[in-house]
Amino acid sequence: MRLPRRRFLQGLAAGPLVATLPAVGCAARGEGLRVVVIGAGAAGLYAGWTLQDEGATVTILEASAVHGGRLRVLEGFADFPIELGAEEVHGERSILHTLLVADGARFVDADDADVYFVDGERRGEGVLEEDDFADAEAFVDALGDWEGDDVTIAARIADEGLAARTTFLTDAWIGNEFGAQNDLIGARSLAQGDAAWSAGDANFALDGTTLLGHLESALAAILPAVKTGQVVTQVDHGADGVTVTCADGTTYAADAVIVAVPITILRDGDITFSPALSDDKLAAIAKVPMGAGMKVVLSFARRFWDADTGSIYGAAHVPEFWATGLGRSDDNLVLTAFVMGDKAEALSALGDDAIATVLADLDAIYGAGVASGAYVDGVIQDWLKEPTIRGAYSYPGPGSHAARSVVAATVGETLYFAGEATHTEGHFGTVHGALETGERAAEAVLAWWWE
Ligand SMILES: Cc1cc2nc3c(=O)[nH]c(=O)nc-3n(C[C@H](O)[C@H](O)[C@H](O)COP(=O)(O)OP(=O)(O)OC[C@H]3O[C@@H](n4cnc5c(N)ncnc54)[C@H](O)[C@@H]3O)c2cc1C
Repeated sequence: MRLPRRRFLQGLAAGPLVATLPAVGCAARGEGLRVVVIGAGAAGLYAGWTLQDEGATVTILEASAVHGGRLRVLEGFADFPIELGAEEVHGERSILHTLLVADGARFVDADDADVYFVDGERRGEGVLEEDDFADAEAFVDALGDWEGDDVTIAARIADEGLAARTTFLTDAWIGNEFGAQNDLIGARSLAQGDAAWSAGDANFALDGTTLLGHLESALAAILPAVKTGQVVTQVDHGADGVTVTCADGTTYAADAVIVAVPITILRDGDITFSPALSDDKLAAIAKVPMGAGMKVVLSFARRFWDADTGSIYGAAHVPEFWATGLGRSDDNLVLTAFVMGDKAEALSALGDDAIATVLADLDAIYGAGVASGAYVDGVIQDWLKEPTIRGAYSYPGPGSHAARSVVAATVGETLYFAGEATHTEGHFGTVHGALETGERAAEAVLAWWWE
């Protein structure tokens, strides 16, 4: 089975490409159709591009000053661009993978060896052969087979009696990887998502280019339709069309609207809908959780980790570090701390002092003063504090699997929903999943218009 999105740096060993980009220049199903899309992340951009490609007139309203949403790039920090949001391509059968290959992307090809800080010692991958770690790994491998109740992963770990010394690993591989922590992840919801996953098992990282750069190149035609700084506060919808109102009082009239904002924005009621969303829809929105998440990117004057180190597990505050430069950089002097859930909340509360905490974690693993003494610079990307995002990505909380379909459902004929949290077939929390929801919403609008 597919392991939960674990990080492997792999070469371009892709199988046949199943997904395809919509054909350009086919019958214009969107002629005369006007659509407003709210949110210029991957989902909103792809929805807009698909509609425009079919002849529709599209306006994308984006609250922040930039398009891209949870795709963001740090340039000039190292000898390669650094992804502050999404970084990996999960699977070889998706719109995203197809788009990247078509746009000439190169993928990192490097052998890596992970480091595990266990019982106060730095260990190599051999530690996974010890009985209790083998049990933990077998538990992770079998996550997709769970047919029991939607209890939390933490409860299942307790039931299985996994050894306490392996907790750091299941925390990193499950809770942290899925954007939360193990006492918030639903075992059945996770398994249902896993069963529906169809993108393939390989993971890829870009070598020298960025996800945002490739999307900008592939979807260039839609970028002029993005209006930034337009915070949508009200959506009036009905059989006669929609009116979308922004915080500055600007209004936009259209035949249909696609709402492609993070689930947190719907949860917090930033947008008033008239008629109001049903109680069922609001209850479903509340069941699709999204918590804190951050990356702390650190550069060093010298590399104190081995040249082939991939991930480093077992630090007190950071479930996973990885060597961001491995295979991408001649220098390989950058580490990324990847922290989700309550640990991200705790680091977020520290503000800039989070860097000292993260360095102390590395000093504990590599020796007193080793990391902090070599430290040059650091950047904290705290997604919880992004005012128009407010978290990392939706995670499979108990009860969330069924709720996603209700969140995704069209209201009447003119109000449509997209965004990673509305993915009903396991690709939530990913870029390719966001693209797929954008395509789904665009196709639904076109099908209605074409009737
Ligand atoms: C740290 C981190 C690491 C990640 N790693 C990976 C990875 O390795 N691989 C992977 O596939 N995925 C990863 N993801 C997840 C991936 O980034 C997201 O699933 C995807 O980018 C979400 O796209 P979206 O269009 O659904 O939402 P977003 O990108 O959030 O776009 C929504 C847009 O709506 C805008 N908006 C909000 N409110 C309003 C309003 N009222 N009016 C107008 N606009 C509004 C926002 O500003 C935003 O631009 C990661 C995410 C994070 C945070």
